[in-house]
Amino acid sequence: MKFTTKAIHVGNTPNFKAGGTGDVIVPIHLSTTFARKRVYAPTAGYDYSRSGNPTRHALEKNLASLEHGKYAFAYASGLAAITNVLLLLKPGDHVIGIDNLYGGTYRLFSQVFAQWGIQLSLVNFTDGDSLVNYIRPNTKCIWLESPTNPLLKIVDLKSVSTIAKKKGILTVIDNTFATPCWQQPLDLDIDIVIHSATKYLGGHSDVTAGCVITKNKTLGKRLGFLQNAVGAILSPFDSYALLKGIKTLSVRMEKHGKNTKEVVAFLSKHKKIKKIYYPGLLSHPQHAIAKKQMQGFGAMVSFELHGTIQTAITFMESLKLIHIAISLGAVESLIEHPASMTHASVPKKEREKCGLFDTLIRLSVGIEDVDDIIADLSQALKKAN
Ligand SMILES: *Cc1c(COP(=O)(O)O)cnc(C)c1O
Repeated sequence: MKFTTKAIHVGNTPNFKAGGTGDVIVPIHLSTTFARKRVYAPTAGYDYSRSGNPTRHALEKNLASLEHGKYAFAYASGLAAITNVLLLLKPGDHVIGIDNLYGGTYRLFSQVFAQWGIQLSLVNFTDGDSLVNYIRPNTKCIWLESPTNPLLKIVDLKSVSTIAKKKGILTVIDNTFATPCWQQPLDLDIDIVIHSATKYLGGHSDVTAGCVITKNKTLGKRLGFLQNAVGAILSPFDSYALLKGIKTLSVRMEKHGKNTKEVVAFLSKHKKIKKIYYPGLLSHPQHAIAKKQMQGFGAMVSFELHGTIQTAITFMESLKLIHIAISLGAVESLIEHPASMTHASVPKKEREKCGLFDTLIRLSVGIEDVDDIIADLSQALKKAN
């Protein structure tokens, strides 16, 4: 089955068995516990909803198939998913992370897991060769984002996984920006894929969720154990809502991609724009890698304005259609200011070291009519001085 078909059908198989009603979508199973006739035989394999829920399982099956994995787990948020993966590590373990990690992930490492003896080095690498120098004897994990947030740097996933496999290091990627529609990291030998499903997978700014997917049986078993042991599971209702969002993922991504191409073309010509970050541009330093490992360049674009922090703020506050809001990947266009919003928890010195300057703006291009998006950007740029 191809991607779009899987997105619609996997996990949504009608139940024609005796007592089944042939539902075309999976029902929302709210029961927290499942009665059994015999003490040793849970009914249909379910005993308690934290450990396993039919609606959540349907979603997890769907997610595993979209990412070409075998085991998938759904959580109450992206950060709950990330926490579960970090619990695979032990005190004394060292992690190498790509240098502009999502702010919340950085905060989790630096203010929570640091207390439990897990060390993080943020490193500017985009391939295996530039990474190899930072590997220490206790390096147990390489933490990737590609495209990164918000500078949209691209990491050569195959070259990183090749080095990591040789050294027995676990590789993890946060695939939120690319989505499984445009990038399949497990096929490039990355061990674990994470999503903030709050973004493109949900797609409508109405579900907070996260997920973890792997092909590896040992990792799958341990992650399943941790999901139940720690308990930050996705609710049946949110599992249903996410399954519903995923059905339109590929049509949404197609429109997101088309709109973004036009928005980038508009911004590239505008005299108030100092710099644009978008992997689809020929001038992007890792454009060739993006082309090799992705089927689309994403719908996130970041840009710096000429001027000061006030120019950036005036521009954003002059927008009429595009909302100023944290988050991304929804049908509506959203814009944010990393220095004061998503990346405010990264110290200014750290921020500027990796290029997150005060006039940097991140735009999540929605699927509205692109003429309206461009008209709004255009009128707001006129006001920004
Ligand atoms: C939003 C986001 C997260 C965190 O996910 P939540 O669902 O907000 O907990 C993690 N990684 C990336 C890249 C994100 O954009």
